[in-house]
Amino acid sequence: MPRRCTVCDHASRDEIDRALVAGESFRDIAGRFAGLTPASLHRHRGTHLAAIVRKARESDEAARAGSVLDEVRSLHARTLRILASAEAAGDASTALRALREARGGLELLAKLLGELDEAPTVNVAVGSDWPVLRSTILAALEPFPDARAALSRALAGDADAR
Ligand SMILES: [Zn+2]
Repeated sequence: MPRRCTVCDHASRDEIDRALVAGESFRDIAGRFAGLTPASLHRHRGTHLAAIVRKARESDEAARAGSVLDEVRSLHARTLRILASAEAAGDASTALRALREARGGLELLAKLLGELDEAPTVNVAVGSDWPVLRSTILAALEPFPDARAALSRALAGDADAR
């Protein structure tokens, strides 16, 4: 079983996270909140807090991409209205310009939608694979207790060093 994180479980976790984000030293924060060590803060910042920051940045980017998409969509809708009224008025040159704009808008929309569709798949895969991989490796080493113990120690030691 993975060890519990004393920072994640801490009653003042939000405050601690804010202090970490503000760049306060591990020693200062550990001195201010009961039950924390610089090592546990280091580990928490490197894994749990980093994951949260990454997720926040992704959803921020998705929101920004969404609003760009909305703008492109409304621009495209306006272009189509101009095209329709130019056609109705028999204004061939305006209709042609609007047609070119409409094609450009469609291409941009397709590109943006394609990028939005691809991004989340990659991010989810990167974040979730390691725990699965770790259990798989440990399970595969079941017949080799020495190697398994050595790997467990190395993984735990690696976590402690953070
Ligand atoms: Zn944590």
